[in-house]
Amino acid sequence: MKKFLARQKQDGFFSIRFKSAAGSLTTAQLFAIHELAEKFGEGYVTLTSRQEISIPFVKKEDFDAMEKFCAENNLTISPVGTIFKMATACQGTRTCPAGIIDSPKIAMEIESRHGGRELPNKITCSVTGCPNNCMKVDANDIGIKGAVEPQFIREHCIYCGACVKICKVGAIEIDREKKVWTIDRDKCINCGRCVKVCKKSALRGEIGFKIYFAGKAFLPMIRDEEKLYKIIDAALKYFDEHAKPRERLSKMFERLGAEDFKNFVGNN
Ligand code: SF4
Ligand code: SF4
Ligand code: SF4
Repeated sequence: MKKFLARQKQDGFFSIRFKSAAGSLTTAQLFAIHELAEKFGEGYVTLTSRQEISIPFVKKEDFDAMEKFCAENNLTISPVGTIFKMATACQGTRTCPAGIIDSPKIAMEIESRHGGRELPNKITCSVTGCPNNCMKVDANDIGIKGAVEPQFIREHCIYCGACVKICKVGAIEIDREKKVWTIDRDKCINCGRCVKVCKKSALRGEIGFKIYFAGKAFLPMIRDEEKLYKIIDAALKYFDEHAKPRERLSKMFERLGAEDFKNFVGNN
């Protein structure tokens, strides 16, 4: 059975957490949370690392009244325990100039599939819109990063060198004399800056996702959004079936290795 009261160190008091939509709440929701914190808490809220708003110092006997109020005011109480924790996201293409993907959309889809799901231990998941990695996705159990894979169109290139200059990791080299353009795919961090800077449309960017499990990228860039969700579905199925109770994903890899997991998620 799902639990919604997070125990505090102060006897008899609990915190109640409210989900955001991958980091966003409407002003109406904020007013409703304000009312709850005034009535049932101590008149303040805290922010959790999972982009939730928490009201501390709630008493157990007030929970039913709070739950009723939440149902009437479009607030979702976040469950606690060994579950799929609320998927977090940066704003990605919604507002950030560097954004490659719509991070909140991806996080909310994952949340709608798995949010609150009971598992052998908690799973954290975050979506970051570009290789700047503001959401530190490699510090989550599951991390998704927006990525661009540049494709070269030889006949348009004038070998101006703008792409070489903008690449922070020195992945591109050109030879003007011989008219040769090369990219080192191992060095490339898939930021897409070279694609943006090329004024001759000699670089086309293929947008996709890089996925990390316990900080490791086992799979090549994923181009299809549905495929991304299928891989996450498979990863959670594998974790549910293979992890010991209270074992984190990284510990499961230490015990079993990652090869079987990689094959399982890669073939789904
Ligand atoms: S990760 Fe990229 S898209 Fe997301 S906030 Fe940071 S810079 Fe912007
Ligand atoms: S910026 Fe475009 S045109 Fe210039 S060298 Fe790079 S690919 Fe070629
Ligand atoms: S995508 Fe970014 S890292 Fe890759 S070659 Fe272009 S500028 Fe360099």
